[in-house]
Amino acid sequence: MLVAISSCLLGNPIRYDATGQRDRFLTDKLGKYVTFLPFCPEHLALGTPRQTIRIVLEDGAKKVYTVFSKEEVTCKMQDAMQTELESLLSQPICGIILKSKSPSCGLGSTKYYTKEMGEGKKDGLFALTCKEHFHDFPIEEEARLNDPWLRENFVMHLFAYEDAMQFEKRVTKLSELIAFHTSYKFLLHSKSEKHYRELGRIVANHEKHSFNNVYKNYLMLFRKAIALKGKISKTVNVLEHMSGFFKHELSPIEKQELHGQITEFQAEIIPLIAVMSTIEFLAKKYDIHYLLEQKFLNPYPKDLGLRSSIQEGK
Ligand code: SF4
Repeated sequence: MLVAISSCLLGNPIRYDATGQRDRFLTDKLGKYVTFLPFCPEHLALGTPRQTIRIVLEDGAKKVYTVFSKEEVTCKMQDAMQTELESLLSQPICGIILKSKSPSCGLGSTKYYTKEMGEGKKDGLFALTCKEHFHDFPIEEEARLNDPWLRENFVMHLFAYEDAMQFEKRVTKLSELIAFHTSYKFLLHSKSEKHYRELGRIVANHEKHSFNNVYKNYLMLFRKAIALKGKISKTVNVLEHMSGFFKHELSPIEKQELHGQITEFQAEIIPLIAVMSTIEFLAKKYDIHYLLEQKFLNPYPKDLGLRSSIQEGK
């Protein structure tokens, strides 16, 4: 899986002062499953080391100036960003990870100025460019990924997006699309019941559209659905649905125990992984293939440990 990333987050000494800012989760954990495609528009435009730059709003336009010599470098930055953008567009990337607070890469964390005054925080210029060209796409900045809930949502989005990309290359018939949809039912449900139902209608294809139209419409809406953030209440709803698969197998005490775990997850007493492990164990014990094939059980490699925090559900 190829993911574009601000080069400094890999530890490359490419920031204005020729240092890097390695992010251990990204390089050491996610990096086991991802090939990174690094970019750095500022290095391309101004070299390294370089003066720091800032974005100044002038008559509604975004201008870029060096902080000490006050040289305008807007055109150099625009050229560099265009080059980096073309590089990203030419590769089969399935996500973008940006460095927070940078005038180029910050995602909602970049300071803007008017003359010498602060103008609040917005998207950096390259982050804005990425958002304009990549829709319903996994894009995050590393600082936000310190929040367990945002991290879990982002990684789930990343893996589902990549899965859809691979699926799009190989799908040839409706039965394959139905199988794909079936495996994502609970994950989609945890994002949005409305999207989940609409996707079900597309797959059912009562209107007898051509297969090409069906799978293209499906994947377009699928990408919108997986871009949505989950909520603890929706996850609880899915867990209750899953537990319904054992209603004939479990004794009343076992049912009570499983329901108790779901309630404890909802009350943020135990992490999601505890309930998921119980459900997975029961699905294996009673050989319930429908559940075992659900992406929601294992949406990404377990050793990323993203469901181990009680704060990852909101
Ligand atoms: S934040 Fe972006 S522009 Fe700044 S050093 Fe890192 S990659 Fe380069």
